[in-house]
Amino acid sequence: MQERKRIALVAHDNKKKELVEWAVYNRQMLKNHSLSATGTTGALLEKALNQPVHRYLSGPLGGDQQIGAAISEAKLDILIFFWDPMEAQPHDPDIKALLRVAATWNIPVACDRSTADFILTSPLMFSKYESLLADYSLYTKRKIK
Ligand code: PGA
Repeated sequence: MQERKRIALVAHDNKKKELVEWAVYNRQMLKNHSLSATGTTGALLEKALNQPVHRYLSGPLGGDQQIGAAISEAKLDILIFFWDPMEAQPHDPDIKALLRVAATWNIPVACDRSTADFILTSPLMFSKYESLLADYSLYTKRKIK
């Protein structure tokens, strides 16, 4: 990944206030990077930060899957996902899929504010970073009988 990170942000409804607060607190840092988000989260962030935020569909309408697809295509570098551990979500399978894809492609993921702080204050936020990917060649070259 390059110095300028492509950061995806998502927050469930009960976590949106916390994510917006976190983003406003870290506004100067976030200005150095490009932001995208699920629909509703993106609209709130854009307004609060006065910075463009690329908006995917709303999460329950497919936005989480769009972000997962972008991660698979190496179009996103970091996922900040404040998910709600206290409430069931109708799009739970999409959330699980998004977290799985992020782990598959070894991108940094923050599921809570403390981890988001640790990621955003990492010296790696200012430098290029070559992530070591698991070797999937045995999988992709497997013989199907
Ligand atoms: P939203 O989607 O930002 O459109 O509310 C977030 C989510 O995945 O629930």
